[in-house]
Amino acid sequence: MNVAVVGAGWAGLAAALRLRELGHSVVVHEAARTLGGRARRVHARALDCWTDNGQHLLLGAYTQTLQVMRMLRLDPQALFYRMPLRLESADGQFSIKAANLPAPWHLLAGIATARGLRLSEKLALIAITNKLQKAQWETPPEQTVSQWLEQGRQSPHAIRTFWHPLCIAALNTPLEAASAQLFAHVLRDSLGGNKQASDLLIPRVDLTRLWPDALEHALHGDPLGRSSVLKGHTVRQLRTAARYVQVQDRHFDAVIVAGNAPSSHRLLAQLPASPLSTAYLESLAAFSFLPIATISLRLAQPWALPTPMLLLRDDPARRQFGQWLFDSSALGRPLRHEAPHGDTLVHIVVSDARAMQEHEAADVIAGLVTQLREQTRRYAPLPEVVAHNIIVEKRATFAAVPGLARPQNRTPWPRVWVAGDWTNTEYPAVLEGAVRSGLQAATELHAALD
Ligand SMILES: Cc1cc2nc3c(=O)[nH]c(=O)nc-3n(C[C@H](O)[C@H](O)[C@H](O)COP(=O)(O)OP(=O)(O)OC[C@H]3O[C@@H](n4cnc5c(N)ncnc54)[C@H](O)[C@@H]3O)c2cc1C
Repeated sequence: MNVAVVGAGWAGLAAALRLRELGHSVVVHEAARTLGGRARRVHARALDCWTDNGQHLLLGAYTQTLQVMRMLRLDPQALFYRMPLRLESADGQFSIKAANLPAPWHLLAGIATARGLRLSEKLALIAITNKLQKAQWETPPEQTVSQWLEQGRQSPHAIRTFWHPLCIAALNTPLEAASAQLFAHVLRDSLGGNKQASDLLIPRVDLTRLWPDALEHALHGDPLGRSSVLKGHTVRQLRTAARYVQVQDRHFDAVIVAGNAPSSHRLLAQLPASPLSTAYLESLAAFSFLPIATISLRLAQPWALPTPMLLLRDDPARRQFGQWLFDSSALGRPLRHEAPHGDTLVHIVVSDARAMQEHEAADVIAGLVTQLREQTRRYAPLPEVVAHNIIVEKRATFAAVPGLARPQNRTPWPRVWVAGDWTNTEYPAVLEGAVRSGLQAATELHAALD
């Protein structure tokens, strides 16, 4: 079969890989000039180097993503800095580290020896996760994370120190609004899995280099010469017929629409209407979105913090918005790194960046530099900041609120499938969800039409 994929985010690219593997020809259409969608390489002129559109963190539980990389003959061992679960605040007041023991003892021992939590808080933490595990990681569908934590008798201090940063990082949605069920799935797959599942993986190369570049290369190397990647190619027209779908002016046997929810909605809304299709389109229109900001600072010299990832305490009232600090110089020697200033970059992540967006860039940077100086006193002083860059992805993820009816990959239209982090993956909007969705769409399409 000859299949079109619209969108070269991680979902569309995973779909293309699976289709190729199943013996089909694939033409990937991507509006941008760089592959990767919301996880891609960008050039930051202010920093005079290549970086990413946003700092990403992966988990050992991202098994399908790691598998995709292996299928492309890439070596995740080399491309990621991998470490056992370790959440440590920059100021040293809080830390929790997985112990070198088999699951679940690695976490139980980690909680027992955690710094910054009282004994009663540690016991409550173990109790709430045990209870969730006994409930098969299911929570009432309408429950928020706040309600779940309150029911589980977590103290305000434990919520502020541990649960808040974890929830905002995993779901990009504040505790009071976030779906307990989606959070429970994240906990199931990371903390409730084997020891490796909770490992933290920080990319050591840019996100497009991680595997999209290799896939593009593989598609262009298709021995039949019928697969390709069309970059800078926005699809505006989609039509269906009994025996083909029309994407722009070309006919294909089937299509996988893998844009984000709003852009996929725009294309699908052009197709013939039916009661089923109306309900399907309504589910795509029901998402709302939240921003994530990544602030990158280029330093006069590498900072060389002892660990590449530290938790920051945000204090929006003092314009201190930083939540996580990533130090490139602590990632070890970058691989064939073309970025001239690679190891002098630090990245600060602000999830749900709505409050930050209300401030001038200069104030944000000033607040952040003060925050870093105050909270990293136990380390070498922050080197001079010689340049900075702020990227705010306005629609970084959908708001992971309770009660979302997430669309299936199969659509009401024949020969049309969708893929994306917003489909019914059981995950919040994350890379692994996108990859799984793409693989699933391709597998279903193959089974239905081949
Ligand atoms: C700043 C930021 C930080 C994040 N941090 C993390 C993290 O740490 N860990 C994690 O797991 N996840 C993280 N995420 C989420 C993760 O990036 C997304 O879940 C994932 O990239 C979504 O992939 P996707 O393929 O579903 O969609 P997208 O990446 O949105 O891909 C859709 C693609 O389709 C293209 N497209 C749309 N319409 C058309 C059209 N008509 N014609 C042609 N092309 C079209 C778009 O240009 C885009 O390239 C983060 C996201 C952001 C933005």
